[in-house]
Amino acid sequence: MDYIEVKGLTKIFGKDVIAVQDANFTLEYGEFISLLGPSGCGKSTILNMISGLIEPTEAEIFVDGKCFFSNRQSINVPTEKREMGMVFQDFALWPHLNVFENVAFGLRLRKVASGEIKKKVHEALELVKLPGFENRLPKELSGGQQQRVAFARAIVISPKVLLLDEPLSALDAKLREEMREEITNLTRELSITTIYVTHDQVEALTMSDRMFVMNEGQILRAGTPLDIYEDPQASFVAAFIGKSNFIEGEYQKQGEDAFIQLSENLRIQSTRLGGDIPAGQKVSAVLRPEKIMVSRSPGDVDTDGLNLLKGKLLRTVFLGDSYEAHFQVDDHLTFKVPLQQDYPSDTILYLMFRKEEVKILEK
Ligand code: ADP
Ligand code: MG
Repeated sequence: MDYIEVKGLTKIFGKDVIAVQDANFTLEYGEFISLLGPSGCGKSTILNMISGLIEPTEAEIFVDGKCFFSNRQSINVPTEKREMGMVFQDFALWPHLNVFENVAFGLRLRKVASGEIKKKVHEALELVKLPGFENRLPKELSGGQQQRVAFARAIVISPKVLLLDEPLSALDAKLREEMREEITNLTRELSITTIYVTHDQVEALTMSDRMFVMNEGQILRAGTPLDIYEDPQASFVAAFIGKSNFIEGEYQKQGEDAFIQLSENLRIQSTRLGGDIPAGQKVSAVLRPEKIMVSRSPGDVDTDGLNLLKGKLLRTVFLGDSYEAHFQVDDHLTFKVPLQQDYPSDTILYLMFRKEEVKILEK
């Protein structure tokens, strides 16, 4: 059975700010999912409706078989009864309380016996690698350490669900990378069902079992990071996650083959679509740069099912461990392609990619 079930989640602020529109999703027990999308797309609003900090305009929310919210049945379980651990971007530690008291706060609220509190706080601080920091004040800690305290405070109550709202965005790049791994390991170790909000695609791709890609209040695509990367389906998703080459033209069929006609002289083979698209319809497709192979001569490859295009190198961008090359393929088509070595501008190279890698996007 689904551990979390969210149906028809909608939030309208005031008269007409539609922050979240009819979001539907489920999580299995122990699953780690990310809500990924640009600033203002409704991620925090979703998280805060699940925790009970914001009341949905409409929804049904179930956790572990219990209804937490239903506007139809007038159910609205208060935040403190939902047993959720939360970590926010700014950590939200109490500045006048030391580390011990910050972590102990939720336990005191729940009237846990003091011996038990001591034990649990100690365990939580061990988990986040901060034993011995009990007496420090938040201002005596680094950003990374404050983040760990916030994390300890969230998990010390053994929450049913962990809700993390951009918890790493206040940290510097190096630390972010470290914490990414630690949070992933920790949540898996504790088998804690986690919803992670981020606008950072690398975080979502590397940490999640599944990710939900959002734009303008809607969940556009849900799936494993690999699924979504390989087959983004929506052009927004393709553009937001990873690098993309976009191909636009008319959809054509010939026997079992399908292709996109870009101009009189240029057509690109693609896979045939499931739904029957009429010939001549305008379509967009995405081709990931790393799916393109490069060769100096066109002769030595078997071209069956392979697109082979001539590209003129416009320029390369040095990326440290590789180059990103920009090729002119046709008057209206340029491709980004990763290269291991640099070439002078105007070099002609042959670009090859399998038709399966040309993923047609839904309108
Ligand atoms: P995200 O977390 O993805 O950056 P939010 O969920 O914070 O986005 O916001 C989604 C939209 O709802 C934005 O357009 C934001 O301006 C609006 N919004 C958020 N909170 C409120 C509020 N309390 N009152 C009015 N509008 C709000
Ligand atoms: Mg937010």
